[in-house]
Amino acid sequence: MLLDKFASMARTRAELEAAGLRPFGAVTESLISATEAIVEGRPVILAGTNNYLGLSYDPRCIAAAQEAAARWGTGTTGSRMANGTFAEHLALEAELAELYGVPQAMVFTTGFAATQGLCATLAGPGDVILLDADSHASIYSGAQLSGAEVIRFKHSDPADLEKRLRRLGARTADTLIVVEGIYSMLGDTAPLAEIAALKREYGGWLMVDEAHSLGVLGEQGRGAAAAAGVADAVDFFVGTFSKSLGAIGGFCASPHAALEAVRFSTRAYIFTASASPSVIASARAALAIMRTEPELQRRLWTNAEQLHAGLRELGLAVGPQPGPVVAVTLDDRETALAAWQRLLEAGVYVNLVVPPASPTGASLLRCSVSAAHSEAQLERIIAAFDACVVPCATAP
Ligand code: PMP
Repeated sequence: MLLDKFASMARTRAELEAAGLRPFGAVTESLISATEAIVEGRPVILAGTNNYLGLSYDPRCIAAAQEAAARWGTGTTGSRMANGTFAEHLALEAELAELYGVPQAMVFTTGFAATQGLCATLAGPGDVILLDADSHASIYSGAQLSGAEVIRFKHSDPADLEKRLRRLGARTADTLIVVEGIYSMLGDTAPLAEIAALKREYGGWLMVDEAHSLGVLGEQGRGAAAAAGVADAVDFFVGTFSKSLGAIGGFCASPHAALEAVRFSTRAYIFTASASPSVIASARAALAIMRTEPELQRRLWTNAEQLHAGLRELGLAVGPQPGPVVAVTLDDRETALAAWQRLLEAGVYVNLVVPPASPTGASLLRCSVSAAHSEAQLERIIAAFDACVVPCATAP
């Protein structure tokens, strides 16, 4: 029966609800600032948003959105290819192209649409998509839709990538290599210098999803490829406005003139309404702030170091390097769920990530840091972990 496959999911949800837990879909009842809210009836510090620069609540971004809503209305009510291209969309595309120093950029309604749509469109039957095994669901989904042969290489493992590129031989000319700048779940940065060198040696087309690295790495927040000094090896920069820019939407920027034809071939771009001008206006305001206020990126990294060091000193299993995502690995799903709930009760909201959403089957409490966190808030987050979370058996 069609719906039978959802029975076990329905049972799990019912059990969680009966226990008074809502880890997936906790409701934010009101927002106090970029880092504080009322969630599920409790005042909490937000330590699980992707608001890396704290710009979702910046008065300049809010004002830009308000002005655009007053000027352009609430929605475009149409596709970019029909009536949905407004001057705001074109201005943002020009600003993104300028940021990456390339001739073209295209703006999508979501980041998911950008990565899924481009993977599905750039490669087709007869082509190859060579993707990192820990790729985001939007990349997997696009790869599946593309009809191309999909080959995974071991997460951030240049030797494994090289082996597969070598095997592909002349087919690398039809191969799209897809990696992320910073990986969303564990917060590790891709070895982009090595990956770019392999692409140069063996051929292929390189797409870098800068979703979690835009605003976080590189001069003017350009991202991981720029920070690694290999932006000129990237064929397609993709990313989202929903993290550092505090809005919603996605983009692709490319040095290839063909992107203009790709635009008119991508279903996720054509057959969906364009983003509301107010959203685009706030993303533009945030992009300008990201480029001109490097102290935000510096503060984010200072905060990341404080949280990473504090959690490591508690004996918790965090990744080897500090970063905007600090993920604590716990023994299993039940332990993680109970710890997540205790943290919420103690006034700290983090993301609970359990298989299959997590890489390597780990159960994680995923914290994301913001430039807007104060030192005192970070201390409170660390104190809450101390009180609520027992280090996993395999912690260092
Ligand atoms: N790519 C990556 C690597 C992501 O982490 C995400 C969001 N989690 C997306 C794409 C999709 O972006 P959005 O949520 O803005 O649609």
